[in-house]
Amino acid sequence: MQLSEKAAYVKGLIEGLELDPKDKQTRVFKVIADLLCEMAEEIKDLGQCYDDVCDQVDGISEDLAGVEDMLSDDSFGGVCYDNDAMSHSDMAYEVTCPSCNETTYLSENSLTEGVIKCPNCGEILELGYADDELDDADDESEAEE
Ligand SMILES: [Zn+2]
Repeated sequence: MQLSEKAAYVKGLIEGLELDPKDKQTRVFKVIADLLCEMAEEIKDLGQCYDDVCDQVDGISEDLAGVEDMLSDDSFGGVCYDNDAMSHSDMAYEVTCPSCNETTYLSENSLTEGVIKCPNCGEILELGYADDELDDADDESEAEE
């Protein structure tokens, strides 16, 4: 039996007592019976809300699990993507070794390091990229002074 049905049943029992409607106690019983019915309805509504929220949380959990799977599974795919991006940026920076004339494709990491080793002949190639920038900055500050 639902809570609201029980409340209605209790209300019916009280009404069935055929108490004196002028009696103060009768009024108390009626108020209590009405209160029970209202509370039963409120609880029913809350239960429905709770079910809705649970469904939503389940949905969010499933979505989140999907995202987690995507992140973990595709962490390899993600690296692949990064590698692709890397190889694209590798293609963007190329330097020709003065020793063996072999063109080397650089990653941005190599550029920031400023020095690379020629993969063909092992010659150390100083890109002078970072140093030049520092020198320029020094020159400018000296010029200002
Ligand atoms: Zn070389």
